[in-house]
Amino acid sequence: ASSGRKAVWNGIGITADGSRVKVLANVGSAADARAAAEAGAEGVGLFRTEFCYLSATNEPTVEEQVKAYSAVLAPFPGKQVVVRTLDAGADKPLAFLAPEPEPNPALGVRGLRVAFTNNGVLDRQLEAIARAAEQTGAEVSVMAPMVATAEEADWFVKRARAAGLRRAGVMIEVPAAALTAREVFDAVDFVSLGTNDLAQYTFAADRQVGAVAALNDPWQPALLRLIALVGKAATEVGKPAGVCGEAAADPHLAAVLVGLGVTSLSMNASALTRVGAGLAEVHSDQCQLAAKAALAAHDPEHARLAARAALTPRR
Ligand code: PEP
Ligand code: MG
Repeated sequence: ASSGRKAVWNGIGITADGSRVKVLANVGSAADARAAAEAGAEGVGLFRTEFCYLSATNEPTVEEQVKAYSAVLAPFPGKQVVVRTLDAGADKPLAFLAPEPEPNPALGVRGLRVAFTNNGVLDRQLEAIARAAEQTGAEVSVMAPMVATAEEADWFVKRARAAGLRRAGVMIEVPAAALTAREVFDAVDFVSLGTNDLAQYTFAADRQVGAVAALNDPWQPALLRLIALVGKAATEVGKPAGVCGEAAADPHLAAVLVGLGVTSLSMNASALTRVGAGLAEVHSDQCQLAAKAALAAHDPEHARLAARAALTPRR
């Protein structure tokens, strides 16, 4: 993948030997969604719905939500779009879902946890998502943020099904969920690894604090080992495991993730060509070798070097 050849991206994620890996976009607005469709995204792997409401003082009505979500789904008729329910709290506070003051907001009532005591907000959002899906014809899945246990995943999926949504999954971004991936898979149709938060919680290093950024390096072997657990479980149960954190935007790391068993990659639109073209240049067995080498490395730098060596283009 590190050759000087010109990047080629025809809008279908596939390795040089023909393994399909969907290349999807992360979006937070209708403008993002249009840009992603133009850049050749196969769909959306993460729609951060909370981005629509960062400045809202009151909960949006169901009608308002249907309108906002339909605008994001519209560029993707017949395509996969994963809509994440509100991930409020910590780095993304929402005024209408503000918890009691907490000493550690990243460890407090955030993401799906808000819904346990306030499930009306979740149910209204699920209703709006279902209606927007119907209006636009996008292949919509819903996904819950900040899930820690299989029991929480099961609770969410039941509510999603009750709202008429057929495909429901959860983010894996808390180490406990990665460690119990088999049980989580029993409850869901798919998972998506949020490597930004998974790194933060694995290393106990705030993702917003520059002084600890080196710990949050997505090439950290400890993070890769957690991802490997999830990839292995996905392969065993035959259900999809995507990555929607920043890790997916690095072409060599994307190849490593594929080697770890990840089945789709979701990223900012600006990275689609780079990652799609990189995938097309590598064979699945190179991805597996790169993954094995990176897992065994002692630090991020050696993981990078080892993966790069395994991914050198074949002539
Ligand atoms: C993540 O945590 O990796 C993720 C994709 O979600 P967010 O960045 O919105 O927390
Ligand atoms: Mg997250």
